[in-house]
Amino acid sequence: MRQKRAKQYRKQLQILKTTFKFKPPIQCVVDDNLILEATNASYDLIKGINSIVQTETKFFVTQCCIQHLYDSKNQVAIDLAKRMEKRRCGHKDTLSSFDCIKSITNVDGENKFRYLVATQDENLRTSLRNIAGVPLVFLRRSVLIMEPLSKVTRRVVDAVERMKLTQGLNSIDAGKRKLETSEEDTVEEQPKHKKKKVKGVNPLAMKKKQKKPQQQQQQQQQQQQQQNENSDELNGEGGDKKRRRRARSRKTDVNTSTSGDLIADADADFKSEVDSKVSNREESKIEDNVSNDAELAEEHK
Ligand SMILES: [Zn+2]
Repeated sequence: MRQKRAKQYRKQLQILKTTFKFKPPIQCVVDDNLILEATNASYDLIKGINSIVQTETKFFVTQCCIQHLYDSKNQVAIDLAKRMEKRRCGHKDTLSSFDCIKSITNVDGENKFRYLVATQDENLRTSLRNIAGVPLVFLRRSVLIMEPLSKVTRRVVDAVERMKLTQGLNSIDAGKRKLETSEEDTVEEQPKHKKKKVKGVNPLAMKKKQKKPQQQQQQQQQQQQQQNENSDELNGEGGDKKRRRRARSRKTDVNTSTSGDLIADADADFKSEVDSKVSNREESKIEDNVSNDAELAEEHK
């Protein structure tokens, strides 16, 4: 039974350490009721609590509890209390051990200072069971017992464990790991792709370039020939047509503009110039036509 209990206590303390962040030395607040009870039963209270906690422990007695022990005039109990540290509770008027210990253990509904409370007061234990993470120790028939975790404590522990489970799947760390791995993959892949692109594209480009010069020379020669032919054509009638088109476009532009007299004068000059050129060409054409007609007439003859 003792081994089973010891294992049970170890589990409880492990939960207190992980979930409620208890750290050695465990701070144990002992009330005057338990000190008197242990003294009366000749029970070694400090040894008993150390065997339960199984780690370094600091023992505290509040000022109020010490006052109650002085009032009891039990020197053995007072001597036992003197082996413990005095906890300044700040109560000017001595409170009941119930109110005193409750006031230092229940700070805004939390066991802020992470006290293990050793008390023989059943009402105090009942009250402290409503605060999560308050380990409770008491004497029963000369056996020191640590209560199993209270329902409230158990609920908090379960909630924290559930949080851990969900965090395991959806935590930021998990996401970071995924991101890191994906980044590494992309980093590894990108250079490969780049290299492949460079290696793959260059040979084809080189082949094309090698073929191009011969083809290009031929094509260029062909193009040059075509251009020469075109230029010959342009120098003839084509050139005149282009010039006429340019002149017409400029005429229309000028007519649409409604700005000042200077432009109008310039238009008039330009028009006269163009008209004279056109008339000259028409005359030359007419001459050509006449000459052509004459030639045709001679051929017919
Ligand atoms: Zn007090």
